[in-house]
Amino acid sequence: MSVATLGSVRRVARRVRNRLVGGVVVLLYHRVASPKRDPQLLAVSPDHFEEHLNVLRHLGRVVSLEQAERDLRAGRCPRRTFVVTFDDGYVDNLTHAKPILEKNDAAATVFVPSGHVGGRPFYWQTLEWLLLDAATLPGELSLTIGAQRHAWSFNQEGYGGAVRDDGADEAWNVLDRANPTPRHGLYRELCDLLRPMAGGEREAVLGALAAQLGDKGSEARRASAKRGGDADAGRVVDVDELNALASGDLVEIGAHTVSHSMLSRLPVDEQRVEVRRSRAELEAWTGRAVRSFAYPFGSRIDYTGETIDVVRDCGFDRACANVPGVARLGVDPFALPRFLVRDWDGDGFARRVRQWVSE
Ligand SMILES: [Zn+2]
Repeated sequence: MSVATLGSVRRVARRVRNRLVGGVVVLLYHRVASPKRDPQLLAVSPDHFEEHLNVLRHLGRVVSLEQAERDLRAGRCPRRTFVVTFDDGYVDNLTHAKPILEKNDAAATVFVPSGHVGGRPFYWQTLEWLLLDAATLPGELSLTIGAQRHAWSFNQEGYGGAVRDDGADEAWNVLDRANPTPRHGLYRELCDLLRPMAGGEREAVLGALAAQLGDKGSEARRASAKRGGDADAGRVVDVDELNALASGDLVEIGAHTVSHSMLSRLPVDEQRVEVRRSRAELEAWTGRAVRSFAYPFGSRIDYTGETIDVVRDCGFDRACANVPGVARLGVDPFALPRFLVRDWDGDGFARRVRQWVSE
């Protein structure tokens, strides 16, 4: 048999074996909440989350990330095995998601960026407060981002007073092609510009933006916190809440760097600090071993082979990406694929899961 034929026979055999043995569908959630505004589409409502768990129980079994990864490594992985993960450590993972996980006896891993515990909001949240919640904004803004100066001017008709009260602006999200007002365009543009920046530089830009908005930013933030009683909108757990989340044997805490930076943009020494420190801090706070990691943002451009080496060297056993796919035999345990879950109802979720497992 020629080498080429042998190669293709092996490929077919692997495909058949994968079909028979199945694989692991790792799900990626962020928030379980019903915020008034969700421009990044991070929230799944508590009702929908419960429907999702019912669907998973109906279709197969939910196991911990650790068990699934160990089973894959050992070459035994039943069909339709599901893993639930959350990125970013939002407080609603404790208040809303955990009771539903407990009710359904479903395990989950929550990846927490340690530098945000008990304090600093994510930049996308700050931009939402500063730009989308403020009633009025100044006509001129300028920011230096990287080495580049960016300036925007807006007339007050189209910008400052443009948030409608019919709910249309609140339903807007970044997947919509159009921007209902220039301020939505600015929010989108700044999210893109800040994403690749290191944590400290990003904070400096947000500080400069807040300074130009004067009191308007903090006013908007106060108003946002009051609105609909959603005082915890977008907040990450504090240390006590982290411990409450970790207590029991259903929720594993995983690391997600310190500052939620795009690791591929950092020198390797700084990557190592981000990865090692996040693990050390989470372990010190919880008194539990932290063995799982998730790359911030997690797409293929957000981490490199060097990053994988750093994560392995720092003592982790596995790491999750944010790339869709079923984890099958032979998968790299340091690049586990995950399917991003949106706020679908049970039927919509079941349809997608069936499609994923049949791929
Ligand atoms: Zn994240």
